[in-house]
Amino acid sequence: MINQMLREGKRQRSEVEAWLLSNVDEQVVGGLTVRIDRDLCVGFGDCIDLAEDIFEFDENDIAVFKVKTASEEIDQEALLEACRSCPVDAIVVLDGEGEQVAP
Ligand code: SF4
Repeated sequence: MINQMLREGKRQRSEVEAWLLSNVDEQVVGGLTVRIDRDLCVGFGDCIDLAEDIFEFDENDIAVFKVKTASEEIDQEALLEACRSCPVDAIVVLDGEGEQVAP
C-alpha cells in the first residue's frame, strides 16, 4: 500500500515537473480556462484575427493573453472559434468543470 502511494506520488510529481518545464500559459477568461501551448504556436495569427480582445503577439510573434483579469467580459463564441481555428491546436479551452470544450 505504501509503495503504491509512493509510486503515485512520484508520478504526480513528474507530471507537475513536466508542466512547470513546459511553455504553457494558462488563464481563466470569462469563466473558461484557456491554455496556450507557446511551444506549439507557430504564429499564424488566426486566433488574434478572430479574438483580438483576448490574444495578441508577443515580441517573438508567439500568442499570449491580452486580457489580464478573469472577470473581464469576453465574447465566448469568438474565443471558441479562435481556439478551433488554430492550425496546430496550440489553444485549449476547458469549461468550469475541467472538461475540454475546444478544440
Ligand atoms: S492560431 Fe495558433 S499558431 Fe496561430 S498565433 Fe494563434 S496560437 Fe499561434
